[in-house]
Amino acid sequence: MSTHSHKNSPSTQGSHGSHASHGAHVPHTPHPAHLETVDIGANLTHVSFGDDLDEVLARARRAGVAQIMVTGTSVEASRQARELAVRHPQLRSTAGVHPHEAGNCNADTLTALRALLALPEVVAVGECGLDFNRNYSPHPDQERWFVAQLELACELDMPLFLHSRDAHPRFAELLRACGSHLPAAVAHCFTGEAAELEAYLELGLYIGITGWICDERRGRHLLELIKRIPADRLMLETDAPYLTPRDMRPQPKARRNEPAFLPHILGTVARALGRPADEVARETTANARRFFRL
Ligand SMILES: [Zn+2]
Repeated sequence: MSTHSHKNSPSTQGSHGSHASHGAHVPHTPHPAHLETVDIGANLTHVSFGDDLDEVLARARRAGVAQIMVTGTSVEASRQARELAVRHPQLRSTAGVHPHEAGNCNADTLTALRALLALPEVVAVGECGLDFNRNYSPHPDQERWFVAQLELACELDMPLFLHSRDAHPRFAELLRACGSHLPAAVAHCFTGEAAELEAYLELGLYIGITGWICDERRGRHLLELIKRIPADRLMLETDAPYLTPRDMRPQPKARRNEPAFLPHILGTVARALGRPADEVARETTANARRFFRL
C-alpha cells in the first residue's frame, strides 16, 4: 500500500508505522465524544483495517462519528470503498484516482469511475488532484487525469474531494478553468499557507482539516489560518490510517489513526477558533451533510 501512503513516510514522520500489531490498546479520548460528527475522509480500505474494521466502526459510533466517507484512491480502491459502504450503513464512499496513481490510468478508467458514481453509496468524485510533493506520477499525467475527473464531476454535478500538495497555484488554475460549472468541492487535508487558502476560498472551496493541525512542528500555522475559514466552509476528517494526531496521549499503538479520533481533532479546532466544540461540531456536521447530500 506504499503508493497510497501519500502523506508521510513512516520512517520520517511516524504517522503510520507498522500496522502488524495494533492490538486492543486504544487511547481514551478526553474530548467531546458525545457530539455528532462526520469524518469526510478515511482510507478504510487500507490493509491496516483488514482485521478489525467492525471494532473500528463501533468505536467511531461510540465517539459520536455518525458517518464516515471512505476515500477512493484508484479504481480498485474505489470499488472496495463502495463495497464497504454497501455492508456498513454509516459509510459512504468516493470514487476517483489519486494523483499518485495517475500514471496507471487508461481509457477504461473513466468508464469504471462513471459506473461507480452511478451507485447510491458513492457520493463524490475523488480523491483527485495534484501532488507535486512526492511526484509519484509525472506532472502531465497528473494534470490530464485530474482535468478528466474535474470534467466528470462537472458533467455529473457531483461534489469533488480534492487533493493538493505543493501544487499551488497550478491546482487553483485548473479549478478556475471549470468556471461556473465547478460543483461543490473540498480541498481535503489542507496544510498550505495563507495565499493558498485565500485562493481556495475565493474559488468557493470547502476546507478539510485533519490532525495535521495537532502537529506542533508542521501544523502550527493552521491554528491561526483556520480562523479565516468561514464557518459554513469548514469540515473535519481523520485521513485514517495516516496523520494520527501527534498530541494524543497516549499515542495509539502502531500509530494507526482511526475515525474514533475525530473528536480529538474537533477539540483542537474548537480551541484554535476560541469557540465551543458543540457549535463547531454542529456546523461542520451540517456542512458535510449538505456537501455530500447525506
Ligand atoms: Zn490526499
